[in-house]
Amino acid sequence: MEKPTVGELTPPNRTLLGPGPSEVHPRVLRAMSTPLVGHLDPTFVDIMDEVQALLRYAFRTNNEWTIPVSGTGSASMEAAIGNVVEPGDTVLVPTNGYFGGRMAEMARRAGGTIVRVGAPWGEPLDPADVQAAFEEHRPDVFGFVHAETSTGVLQPNVPELTDIAHDHDAYVIADCVTSLGGVELRVDEWGIDVAYAGAQKCLSCPPGASPLTLSDRAMEKVLAREESPRSWYLDLGLLEGYWGDERSYHHTAPVTNVYALREALRLVSEEGIEARWERHRRMAGALKAGVEAMGLRMNAPEEYWLPSLNAVRVPEGVTDTDVTAYLLEQYDLEIATGLGDLDGEIFRIGCMGYSARPETVSYLVSALGDALQKQGADVDVNAGLSATSRALGE
Ligand SMILES: *Cc1c(COP(=O)(O)O)cnc(C)c1O
Repeated sequence: MEKPTVGELTPPNRTLLGPGPSEVHPRVLRAMSTPLVGHLDPTFVDIMDEVQALLRYAFRTNNEWTIPVSGTGSASMEAAIGNVVEPGDTVLVPTNGYFGGRMAEMARRAGGTIVRVGAPWGEPLDPADVQAAFEEHRPDVFGFVHAETSTGVLQPNVPELTDIAHDHDAYVIADCVTSLGGVELRVDEWGIDVAYAGAQKCLSCPPGASPLTLSDRAMEKVLAREESPRSWYLDLGLLEGYWGDERSYHHTAPVTNVYALREALRLVSEEGIEARWERHRRMAGALKAGVEAMGLRMNAPEEYWLPSLNAVRVPEGVTDTDVTAYLLEQYDLEIATGLGDLDGEIFRIGCMGYSARPETVSYLVSALGDALQKQGADVDVNAGLSATSRALGE
């Protein structure tokens, strides 16, 4: 076999405004180039405690069971669903976006019976529909997506949803992958039993260690399971040995990813979680003002607008993939096209974490305007730029 000749790694320097990964803060990149210690080193045990405390702060929770799960957001998602859902449980999942579908598939593989509550893609769940679904199906577990990255919709009325579930003695699992650290999220106050997130969205950290938190009540269900979870790697009963008081080996922690997450969360606490939510609203608000003034339309109505993921309707006569390819080639700028029911209909423009800053927002508005004009769309780029700069100046 021939020896492969591979050059030095020189990735392009992209501006990342897609659905994730977002741009990584330079301090996080620096933390990742510090020396490794063993995953049971006393200094690493301190780091684990610090990461857990910082995660509780970001989630707004006192849950003891708050850990980074090894793997991307789908790993913390599968840890949540695969441990909480037991064979024979009925699981209520939403149909109003791509990630509700993933929830359903994971719950099915965990042995759950799936029932659904619907809303069109681009709309949130209506609490009345959730109430009706509870009365009809009596689910044991209810999953919903707080920030639907596929549609740019923020689920409002979370406490109403969790009240319905708790009135029926059910457990609530919330997908907070695109909300943690970007938009208002209050795990304890809102009565969320289990919340999972990712590192590469609003925390602006590389993917690899993903936040998960469970209430004592949820953890009691997990620890009382008759049958072990189907995944050994994500078995929270076993992971308790490592992240709990015992600190015994289960699997090697992704040390560098834990360093990165620690630094990313330190940035969250320095900024202050509420100030961070506000910054996302302001930066994404300027982006939204720009695209609207240019003549484009947002997909989600104002009340459900998700600042961390802006879904913008593709204008008449424009091919979405030509625009994204042009932005990548001409501007080193990444945004995404639609998924599922919204394929071909929207652009998905992230405004997450370190990417949510004035330079990137202005750059996006001018680059997108140029790309659309090149495609023959009738957009007023100057009006967009002035609206953005006005909003940024406010
Ligand atoms: C990105 C995302 C996920 C999955 O996370 P990965 O890191 O891609 O595994 C799950 N849910 C939502 C809402 C997401 O945006």
